[in-house]
Amino acid sequence: MVIIDDVTLTYKGATPAVTAVRGTSLTVDHGEFAAVVGPSGCGKSTLMRLVTGLVKPTEGTVSVDGALVTGPVKIAGMAFQNANMLPWRTVIDNVMLPLEIVEPHRSRFRKHKAEYRARAEALLATVGLAGFGDRFPWELSGGMQQRASLCRSLIHEPALLMLDEPFAALDAFTREELWCVLRDLWQRLHFTVILVTHDLREAAFLADTIHVMSARPGRIVQTKKVELQRPRDLDICFEPAFTDIVHELRGKIAEVRQA
Ligand code: ADP
Repeated sequence: MVIIDDVTLTYKGATPAVTAVRGTSLTVDHGEFAAVVGPSGCGKSTLMRLVTGLVKPTEGTVSVDGALVTGPVKIAGMAFQNANMLPWRTVIDNVMLPLEIVEPHRSRFRKHKAEYRARAEALLATVGLAGFGDRFPWELSGGMQQRASLCRSLIHEPALLMLDEPFAALDAFTREELWCVLRDLWQRLHFTVILVTHDLREAAFLADTIHVMSARPGRIVQTKKVELQRPRDLDICFEPAFTDIVHELRGKIAEVRQA
């Protein structure tokens, strides 16, 4: 689904120019849940921008779903640390936003609004937000806004979901609740995920594969398959097999930070 092949990205607008990632490669299969972890500033967000076509590689190539990425990738949904809800729109109107922008929905939207609204309401219900569609985002807690943000990133049924630290601003209990929300959505809808996180437990709980990045200029230095059985419950976080994975990743990151 995603192939990053020997990519280097230098931000040339900065003085001096900053090489954020250098000579890095990464492959993510269709339907796979991949996580990217690494020290702060190592180029994780840059990797996301490369895959979604928001920046172009200085060297190397990126392809998504068999096509070379040369501009913004239309089959991707995105969510970030900040829920970024538009405060003047209700929750349901925020969730429906991609349908007003992305084809083929855009040209159908006016005529089929009731159908799309029902779809948005159904999605909100699956993340525990039934009945909240007509509220404004600022009437919702941070966790609820982030649930709505996940719905918005998935409403147009993207084949690829890109998540950049989506739960980092939430308290630990809410964060774990949302891990389960994301797990259930992924198991039901079968999209491919790339999750950028600095939370190693989050990566181990959710992902099939965890990629560790080195300090800047970032490069994938280790790829670890998570062999824990699915479906996974939060109880798994207390099992030795789980804590072993977290320890191993922590050791690797400590090593690359010092390198
Ligand atoms: P991470 O997400 O791992 O924290 P980023 O990809 O945001 O890392 O940034 C990697 C490096 O590139 C950092 O040193 C950052 O300061 C730099 N960087 C990010 N975006 C830009 C930009 N638009 N211009 C110049 N430097 C940038």
